[in-house]
Amino acid sequence: MKYFSLPLAFTTIGLSLIANTAYANKPPAPELSNAQLQQCLNSLKNSSKFRGISNYTFEQYRPNQPDPSVIQSLNYQPEFQKDVWDYLSALVDKERVDDGIRAKHQWADTLRRIEARYGVKPEHVLGVWGVESNFGQTLGKKPLFDSLATLSCFDRRQTYFRGEYANALKIVQNGDIHANDMTGSWAGAFGQTQFMPSTFLELAVDFDGDGRRDLVNSVPDALASTANFLVKRGYRRGEPWGYEVKKPANYWGESNRRNKKSMNYWRNQGFTLADGRPLPYDLSQAALIMPAGQNGPAFLVGKNFDTFYSYNASENYALAIAHLSDLLTREDSSKTDFITAWPTDDPGISRQQAKDIQQALLNAGYDIGTVDGIIGDNTRSAIQQYQSSHGIFPADGRAGQKFYRAIMNSSTNNAPSRSSLRQPNFQQPTRYGQYTQPASQSDRMAQLIESQQGYRRVVDADGRIRLVRVDKGH
Ligand code: CA
Repeated sequence: MKYFSLPLAFTTIGLSLIANTAYANKPPAPELSNAQLQQCLNSLKNSSKFRGISNYTFEQYRPNQPDPSVIQSLNYQPEFQKDVWDYLSALVDKERVDDGIRAKHQWADTLRRIEARYGVKPEHVLGVWGVESNFGQTLGKKPLFDSLATLSCFDRRQTYFRGEYANALKIVQNGDIHANDMTGSWAGAFGQTQFMPSTFLELAVDFDGDGRRDLVNSVPDALASTANFLVKRGYRRGEPWGYEVKKPANYWGESNRRNKKSMNYWRNQGFTLADGRPLPYDLSQAALIMPAGQNGPAFLVGKNFDTFYSYNASENYALAIAHLSDLLTREDSSKTDFITAWPTDDPGISRQQAKDIQQALLNAGYDIGTVDGIIGDNTRSAIQQYQSSHGIFPADGRAGQKFYRAIMNSSTNNAPSRSSLRQPNFQQPTRYGQYTQPASQSDRMAQLIESQQGYRRVVDADGRIRLVRVDKGH
């Protein structure tokens, strides 16, 4: 690993990408009044939204107390602060591709029947399943009624969550899903498809024929419901989601998923597939997206990409599904990168590498909670402390390939790392990840620049990291 600093003297020709990867504190869990919750529930019970829910159902699943952690989560959405390469490297790693290949063979017959009925390519169904619930392995453990009741009575978006609370009660009252199985994400998405209750009522189907739409326990129900979701959002039978492409040298167009053009338009502009082959003829219209700007991977995406997008309203999320589906089509987990590299010299890590980092941090005496392969607040905080005490810059709490190599080297050699010899005179964190720096140190922080290919990584005084595109000559 190589850490060096340069004086603050360079010419930028434009701010291409701003990414806040600095460690962000989760807001503390609020104190919620149970009296307020119970009073709120009393009035909800008699409101129009809950018409059709019997008094018996409502009272049977009525929470005893609010769950403050869901309000905490409501006001904290870390995925919007991650670099796209960090996001994708965790969602589409070798492990998930291998799991997906196994699932593809195990459920081949079901997937064929689903394709026959809905016209959705098996790998597209698998892509959603893999990203949403890790092929049914990660369903979320929060009791849905506690979460949704709390979200219905406190903080933002109460109207929306009241609808979802009523719908969740309807699902149990209808007998589709057992109340004990109604657990999920903090926001109320549940089951192998991670549908919200309203989506469940609109789109879930019974595909195994037992008369219940059980998206928790029945894989055929979950996969067919996913296919039904994609079809209802406009999926086009026989079309790919899109392709990774190569831009012509002097093309500087915008990244805009909604700006769809004919494939002839893109051919005439000089676009090819990323490996140089000509663009195929199996996509009717496509738009150009460049998730990391002009110098990163580029994609032409069609209508079926939009159906992935409608699952979670994030292009990076849709790209994870799309990319995973391609790797499952090829049945090859040996290389999970795109053909064009991300514009960084410090790419993201897999979940296995995240686990390795967590284990190394535990071994070094840092409290990161459990080794789960998820770089959450505790792990980021521990990384930031490790970085600052070992002289690793920037001390941003980010787990990339460089940090992975640094901590793996130092834990296998069991000797002081070279960088620790240059340990700067930083103040220790006052609290997890919180620094107070004298002005002169802030100035020095701002001057720590790491050169990258075509980019410089600039650390602002407040810890924010910017990738600034620079002239090759400077
Ligand atoms: Ca069923």
